Amino acid sequence: MSNYLNCQKASASLEMNKKSNSYKVKIAKDKCKSCNLCIIHCPTKHLKFSSKLNKRGVVFAITDSKTKCIGCGFCFFMCPDGCIEVFEIKNI
Ligand code: SF4
Ligand code: SF4
Repeated sequence: MSNYLNCQKASASLEMNKKSNSYKVKIAKDKCKSCNLCIIHCPTKHLKFSSKLNKRGVVFAITDSKTKCIGCGFCFFMCPDGCIEVFEIKNI
């Protein structure tokens, strides 16, 4: 089962912590079918296609180190195959 910041419970604290915390996206590359939905819906353009092929023989979604994830979760909710997890990294 995919994880988006422990879903609903985290959404309130997500709003409060947006400035101080950072976020990490994990993509199951071999499950990706290259549909592009996560990439076109990412507001910060943090996702892009790889230059290599996965086990399915298609380019897959990867993160772009030039941009930042803001933890919105759009990619998680858009992916039809549950390839994406979004984690909050708390800055203590
Ligand atoms: S959580 Fe939001 S900002 Fe982060 S990669 Fe997904 S769509 Fe982009
Ligand atoms: S939405 Fe899912 S299947 Fe589609 S490109 Fe993104 S990770 Fe791959």
